Amino acid sequence: MPEITGDLDAILEWADEFRTLGVRANADNPEDAELSRSFGAAGIGLCRTEHMFLGDRKQIIQTFILNEDETVREEAVRELLEVQTNDFYGMFKAMDGLPVIVRLLDPPLHEFLESARALDVEIARLEAAGTDAALVAEKRELMAKIDSFAEQNPMLGMRGVRLGIVYPILPTMQVRAIATAAARLKKEGLDPKPEIMIPLVSVVTELAKLRALAEKVIAQVEAEEGVELEIPIGTMIELPRAAVTADEIASVADFFSFGTNDLTQTTFGFSRDDVEGEFVPQYLSERLLPFNPFATVDAGVARLVQMGVELGHEGNPEIVCGVCGEHGGDPDSIATFNGIGLDYVSCSPYRVPVARLAAAQAALSQK
Ligand code: PEP
Ligand code: MG
Repeated sequence: MPEITGDLDAILEWADEFRTLGVRANADNPEDAELSRSFGAAGIGLCRTEHMFLGDRKQIIQTFILNEDETVREEAVRELLEVQTNDFYGMFKAMDGLPVIVRLLDPPLHEFLESARALDVEIARLEAAGTDAALVAEKRELMAKIDSFAEQNPMLGMRGVRLGIVYPILPTMQVRAIATAAARLKKEGLDPKPEIMIPLVSVVTELAKLRALAEKVIAQVEAEEGVELEIPIGTMIELPRAAVTADEIASVADFFSFGTNDLTQTTFGFSRDDVEGEFVPQYLSERLLPFNPFATVDAGVARLVQMGVELGHEGNPEIVCGVCGEHGGDPDSIATFNGIGLDYVSCSPYRVPVARLAAAQAALSQK
């Protein structure tokens, strides 16, 4: 056992001897992956691939969604495949030998589409400047198209698995990029360990459909590259229906990752996007709701995690269960997750040391 020298690394190593809960990190670029590794993360528990499409790349997805011309769509996907293969290559290389859970695209769709309101302003400006009528008409058409995708509650709409089922070409592209990056690294003598995670599943059939798609693509890449790949496929449990039918879902999942952010939102029925608004803080200040819905199982949302873990093991005794929402880095919640019997938590890179200590403390106090 290392002596306590006042050195943080020594204390963390000491804590590691006692904890049973694994600690991974949430990261979506090689720099954050390396940082996570330096803080002692045992892998990446959540790579949010929609974060790889901020800035200019948003345009490629926008072109894909708004354009029904197959040739234009295929061109956009070819471009995406190339950039994603490089993205994953960098991530797997940074985490060589450790698992990297790549979550397939999970954006609320409106985040990818230019706001129709912004176009409205642009059209008014173009008209005032006496711009070419054809250009104005083109912008109007685009605005109508974007409007046709508008949802009243985008967080409850075309996200996660739903996007992949409606546009299978997107998960096909992402799985191909993941498998190709892993195959290339293997040929270079490295040990990539990607895992594929399907978000926002509520019914087993959704996961089964995307799993079949992913397995087919992986087999194609294996044949093309002449490399054998072992890529576990799992899902996020972030909707109450998924938690209460976890036995069915586990029958087609290698792992579960509980998403505390969406699970909290959908269990309480409060929009997570409005937490900073006027009403939600005012309501919370009434102090009727539990301050931390994961502080104890009785706080409510954690009971769904407990149910999901128990049912999940009934459906697949080998299933690996983790947590990757914000509460994955919160010491009080970590104590609950340890008690429930999760395998790991995943949190932001800077929270990894805190989570390592909290996991050890939980293991000792719950002995
Ligand atoms: C979650 O819902 O807890 C989660 C990790 O996914 P995201 O925050 O990206 O929706
Ligand atoms: Mg989520």
